Amino acid sequence: MIIIAIDGTAGSGKGTISELLARKLGFCHLDTGAVYRSLTYFFIEQGIDLEDEELIRDTLDKLDFKVKFEKDEFGNQVQKNLLFGKDLGNKIRTEKISISTSKISKFSCVRKFANKIQHNIALNYNLIVEGRDVGTVVFPNADYKFFLTASPEIRAKRRSEQLSQPQNYETILKDIIERDEADMKRKTSPLKKADDAILIDNSYQTVDETLSEIISYIK
Ligand code: C5P
Repeated sequence: MIIIAIDGTAGSGKGTISELLARKLGFCHLDTGAVYRSLTYFFIEQGIDLEDEELIRDTLDKLDFKVKFEKDEFGNQVQKNLLFGKDLGNKIRTEKISISTSKISKFSCVRKFANKIQHNIALNYNLIVEGRDVGTVVFPNADYKFFLTASPEIRAKRRSEQLSQPQNYETILKDIIERDEADMKRKTSPLKKADDAILIDNSYQTVDETLSEIISYIK
């Protein structure tokens, strides 16, 4: 199976680019952030202290969480994040979940859980895998590796335009900076460009330009 790793900072356009690339190549887009977000959603719902690593480890042992791909009406494979069989949909896409996810994603038990899901899916599908440690840790032998970023100000502006409920730009900028810092500084699988990944700073690129640049590297 073919693996294209797309890592990068928060709001760098990884999601949009990965989705478009997957459609163009007929691959599945595996959003690994959605896995970490789904776990966070569950822990919050259960009232679990997000600093309590031991309790989180025990909870993971009993958790029924699966990722599945289903075709939509246009024939595109869409990722479903199933918690005890129920698709979480957009419930995982809130700022609260974004900021809380960085707290639990530093735990090695959480990363082990998420990595296993990613490895199992890669047995059956050609994938665009979007995340933070895909090219460095999860799939170090990926066929292609890219690392996307943009200035924090531009990323915050994009995020604030994406949100359905308007939020203060300064708050989003602060969250993005804090989240990147937490993701980069953690000991286990920090957010980092793999040595052999192609760096793309898309601060002044359109989505189409970034996509074309990536496609130009794929043989
Ligand atoms: O990409 P997204 O914003 O959905 O990721 C949410 C959070 O999940 C990140 O801030 C990071 O803490 C965590 N994450 C991670 N490793 C990945 C993907 C996401 O630690 N491969």
